[in-house]
Amino acid sequence: MSNCVIRLMLGNHAIAQGAMESGLAVAAGYPGTPSSEIMEYILDYGKELGIYAEWSSNEKVAFEVAYGAALAGARAIVTMKHVGLNVAMDPLMSSAYTGVKGGFVIVTADDPGMWSSQNEQDNRWVGLHAYIPVFEPYDPQSAKDITKIAFEFSEDLGHPVLLRTVTRVSHVRGPVLICPPSTPRYADSFIKNPSREALIPANARALKAELIKRWGEIGRRVDELPHAYVDGGKALIITSGVAYTYVMEAVKEHNINASILNIITPVPIPRKTVLDAVTRADEVIVVEEGDPVVEEQVKALLFDNRINVRVLGKSENIFPRVGELTPDNVLSGLSKALGLSISTGRGSIRVNYTPPPRPPVFCPGCPHTASFYELKISVARAGVKPVFSGDIGCYSLGINNPFNEQDTLTNMGSSLGLGMGINRGTGGRSIVVSIIGDSTFFHAGLPALVNAIFNKTPMLVLVLDNRVTAMTGGQPNPTNVISIESLVRGMGVKYVWTVDPFDVKQAQEVLRRAIEVVKNGELAVVVMKRGCALEAVRLGRGMKIPHYYVDEGACRACGICYNLIACPAIVPLENRKAWIDPNMCVGCSVCAQACPYGAIKPSDDVRAWLSKWAEM
Ligand code: SF4
Ligand code: SF4
Repeated sequence: MSNCVIRLMLGNHAIAQGAMESGLAVAAGYPGTPSSEIMEYILDYGKELGIYAEWSSNEKVAFEVAYGAALAGARAIVTMKHVGLNVAMDPLMSSAYTGVKGGFVIVTADDPGMWSSQNEQDNRWVGLHAYIPVFEPYDPQSAKDITKIAFEFSEDLGHPVLLRTVTRVSHVRGPVLICPPSTPRYADSFIKNPSREALIPANARALKAELIKRWGEIGRRVDELPHAYVDGGKALIITSGVAYTYVMEAVKEHNINASILNIITPVPIPRKTVLDAVTRADEVIVVEEGDPVVEEQVKALLFDNRINVRVLGKSENIFPRVGELTPDNVLSGLSKALGLSISTGRGSIRVNYTPPPRPPVFCPGCPHTASFYELKISVARAGVKPVFSGDIGCYSLGINNPFNEQDTLTNMGSSLGLGMGINRGTGGRSIVVSIIGDSTFFHAGLPALVNAIFNKTPMLVLVLDNRVTAMTGGQPNPTNVISIESLVRGMGVKYVWTVDPFDVKQAQEVLRRAIEVVKNGELAVVVMKRGCALEAVRLGRGMKIPHYYVDEGACRACGICYNLIACPAIVPLENRKAWIDPNMCVGCSVCAQACPYGAIKPSDDVRAWLSKWAEM
């Protein structure tokens, strides 16, 4: 402890720190908000400790890398956002059967409130479904501590564990006692044991029986963990995760008489601990983030033990089932459940200020704005009205005005799969443009492209290759070492082009030709390749970055630049002429190429800057 210090840390960094203090050897992940900072921390600090860490091509692969290491006997972690666990579901289900030799922690960062996701998904259900225990921290310090407990638990029982965080734990900062990392615990060798690790039916049947037995042992062992109980009244509040901090705040600020049990394993609940607490209570209130996962287990437990105590929670709408918990709605729910008349928001600071609406927009100079602009012009010129089958990434913003070029958008890699279905489902009458980013293409687009080739599905696949996984903060992905164009050609696609979206004329010409190919019933792939503007600015640090300006005398107020390109640096003046904010413009040149009157001009020679940008 003498070597330990207190630092202000992000919850995600605390998880990474906890893993490194536990002897982490192998880490793998796929970026996704709110999980990404865990891997970033390990990548930043783990290398010099001898930890192997990688961004993998998708969550399933990341899972398999970490799972393989844990099967061998190393301590391993895999990180992903909640929907990523769906991608990794296949190996995850098997991992409970085989068990592991080294501690194996699977982090799922759930996003209640859908700040950056297509759905709310409470992955504690996955734990129940897969027979994998779930640990749940409630603040940065507990994130570190519980990660360490989770590693020990996993290795002791030879079983994978899930660590479930939510946005308000992952992205909150708090003081954390950090200690020196431990030496990474690698395996000396892989000792083969196919009867455990080769899941042919005969082996798997025996392992299922063993898994059920181990689940019973897990249920007993979770009772030995440091769950927190505070005796304070006949009403018992059972809580878990971030809800615990809201409960404590409400109870302390409003002197609420209640006992509190915070359980760190919502799956399975520590049955003995819960029963002990319930026998002293005449009413139970369950407060948890997400679905009524703990509540359902508590009700079943009381039913099994013939205990007739009222249990209130999300099922009775005491707490909201949509969106995040907040200190206010937790207080309001407790007040309702306990028959108190506490008005919520009394203690909160009221700021007399309404922030201006800030619709999500592309960054200035984003190559996707150029691609969407060129696509819009090209399909209009070709006289077609395609279905734009969209996908997950920054380019999802193409759903907004003025582009409206994301008609469907459901999950990673869905652009190709749904696009094929739409084409087939309309008897081939729909012209489909599937729009997918480079990272998503490697994540989940490739198998769908194989299908399109194999089944000869006509469509235009646009790969918006901005050289990074940009939406989650600019992580590297296979596009840095694998040429998408060569790969696609190697897969047998005949019509493949790579084009720079900053070359407006050429991009429109290529798109025109590609649309003709699709109209003739064939598959075409266009890779629109230009680095993310934010990453380019980082790359060009120290360089003089030129900006563009509008020559007011030459501007005819046609609105093409601000209406069709929608770069946030360009705004219309009162006289409808354009103006470019020099502090926002990053000199991409697209608006200058689009202006039919040559009214947009560079402040400086742009060649050096644009060729630097093209190096990405
Ligand atoms: S050059 Fe034009 S389109 Fe590019 S960032 Fe500047 S204002 Fe935006
Ligand atoms: S495209 Fe050119 S002429 Fe039209 S508003 Fe913009 S700057 Fe003015």
